[in-house]
Amino acid sequence: MAIETNFKSDKWVKCISGSGTIRAVAITATEVSNLLSGRHALTPSGSKALAESIIAGLILSSYCKSGEKINLNIQGSGWCTQSMIDANADAEIRGYVLERSPADIKLARSIGPWGIGLLSVLRTKFDEAKPYIGTVPLLTGHLAKDLTFYWLQSEQVNTAVGIEVFMENDKIVLAEGFLIQAMPGASDADIQFIEDHLKKLHQFDSQASLRSTPTRLLSYLLENQSFSVVEEKNLTFKCGCSLDRVKRSIKLVGDEEIQSMIAEKKNVEIDCDFCSEHYLLTPSILESLLSSPASGAK
Ligand SMILES: [Zn+2]
Repeated sequence: MAIETNFKSDKWVKCISGSGTIRAVAITATEVSNLLSGRHALTPSGSKALAESIIAGLILSSYCKSGEKINLNIQGSGWCTQSMIDANADAEIRGYVLERSPADIKLARSIGPWGIGLLSVLRTKFDEAKPYIGTVPLLTGHLAKDLTFYWLQSEQVNTAVGIEVFMENDKIVLAEGFLIQAMPGASDADIQFIEDHLKKLHQFDSQASLRSTPTRLLSYLLENQSFSVVEEKNLTFKCGCSLDRVKRSIKLVGDEEIQSMIAEKKNVEIDCDFCSEHYLLTPSILESLLSSPASGAK
């Protein structure tokens, strides 16, 4: 049984402008960011970085076709060494960040969460073996700017990406983001409109309270343009890990190795990287793995 939590206010809303030449998605992911930060016991700066990467992963997956999923892998020189996010077209997400050790973090703090490094996106379709991989350098220290560059490079279309995470008393009070994109046939005015938004992004926070839902964020971003909502989807935190899966992976080490674990008379403890779910295999569970027919009892 997978681990799953559905959220009421966290969602993405996709729209298309009245002219049909601009499309956009706006996302709020406050609840899922707090839930995952708690699960992984992150520091406040780790929580902020995780929330930013959750938004980035959702922006990417919101443009997946049905049945597709993405894996976002960020490796940088800032206060996180790595961020790993899985998300799909159904708005299901899981992920984690690895924070630097307290000894290193002082130095990294001036760099910010990301610094320089690599941003890779792996896009997979369930029924296709060959994934698409896109990689761009992390250059600016700002995830939204680096993601804009990713979009320009992978799709060669004018795109504006924004990601904002607001914290109060070490908790995330608002995690939101958006992507606006010119569609084929967009006029010079449409492209100018998107470029103006890139310049406006630093005004983002003063207006935060006005835009606490994705639909309000879209109204703010598209200003006087009319738009119609094409999809509204609530977010779900979902991790496919389970005790059965852990058991299956232990079985792969072979009977001999399992026998030596049993001989130590200790519990084997395993934490899921993606959701920090804790699995405990007692010696008697380990024995059951030996005796079950699927282990190929010899
Ligand atoms: Zn898990």
